[in-house]
Amino acid sequence: MKIYEQTELDFKDVLVKPKRSFINSRSEVEITREYKFKWCPRRIIGTGVITANMATVGTFEIAKHMMKQKMFCCLHKHYTLEDLVKFITDNDCSEYVFLSMGLRDEDYEKIETILTQHPDKCRNICIDVPNAYIPRVKDMVIKMRQKFPDILLMVGNAVTAELVEDLILSGADIVKCGIGSGSACITRRITGVGRPQLSTIFECADVAHGIGGMICSDGGIVHIGDICKAFGAGADMVMMGGFYAGCPEAAGDIIEKYFQTNQLDENGKPITETKYFKVFYGMSSEYAQNKHYCGMPKYRASEGRVVEIPLKEPIDKINQDILGGLRSYMTYIGARRLKDVAKCTTFYRVNTQLNTVFGN
Ligand code: 5GP
Repeated sequence: MKIYEQTELDFKDVLVKPKRSFINSRSEVEITREYKFKWCPRRIIGTGVITANMATVGTFEIAKHMMKQKMFCCLHKHYTLEDLVKFITDNDCSEYVFLSMGLRDEDYEKIETILTQHPDKCRNICIDVPNAYIPRVKDMVIKMRQKFPDILLMVGNAVTAELVEDLILSGADIVKCGIGSGSACITRRITGVGRPQLSTIFECADVAHGIGGMICSDGGIVHIGDICKAFGAGADMVMMGGFYAGCPEAAGDIIEKYFQTNQLDENGKPITETKYFKVFYGMSSEYAQNKHYCGMPKYRASEGRVVEIPLKEPIDKINQDILGGLRSYMTYIGARRLKDVAKCTTFYRVNTQLNTVFGN
């Protein structure tokens, strides 16, 4: 038994120090960067915001909106081969799309077919397993890199330097980092395993950058400021699920619900209010297992939740707010380019992050 005594930090535990800078306006900052990878010879210009490969937000519809802003989308793994081929054929911008796979033979065969039969289309792959500490993940990274040396390969999830280093040296370009931080995740509740996201980013980015790799911070974004903090801590990409869930473009029907108010109309009848929601669910939830597989295997427990989220603004507006927040952040810290954000960031450890007197 061992205990690490050092306090581990999350986004809510820090604020960022403003610095004097030569930037006069938010319009002067460059919110894209050129991504150069350790193994993949391609370069991509983008803003490293990426939607999670969850069935609600890792969709074709969401991908089209993300591409417009040079942002990324990790498609969920439940699309058929035919659907994926059609999508990547119809959209030339598929450099902003990642195709997901797990460790199942069917997943491998689907991705292998796309990479071999459509070599000029999408070649960004994400091997996604909640626990990348199992040896089969590294084996799959080695196999994919040997078979397809030019692909852009992301793999996850990890939260510690040793595994990040191991996966990058085995062939990954980007390691997806975060365990237990997701909004629809209950892993920390039912296993006790996890690590606060900011400390995860610090440690994993440091080791990844030291050997020419990158990290994608995955999960835990509550406010736009958290995206800024994630980049500030060293993340090259920031993945989000819950933050986009609830936008009208996310998969799933809009649910209409009626609530009785305390007010009466002119006839003395109680006024009802209509509110709109969307269902968002964790990909390891029992709900997801029933929907996308043949139910929950007996040896597993649900590690995800199902929630109804109030309908949000359209995704283009969410992205505009994210990019606006990022521009403002960069102006505050004097970072002219997205690439310089981590270098220009200094954190304060705080006890209180927000003034919540009128809500969050
Ligand atoms: P969010 O942005 O919603 O906070 O986090 C998104 C991330 O949560 C996903 O990219 C994925 O890593 C993680 N996630 C999604 N569904 C589940 C689930 O059912 N269980 C767990 N443990 N994590 C999940």
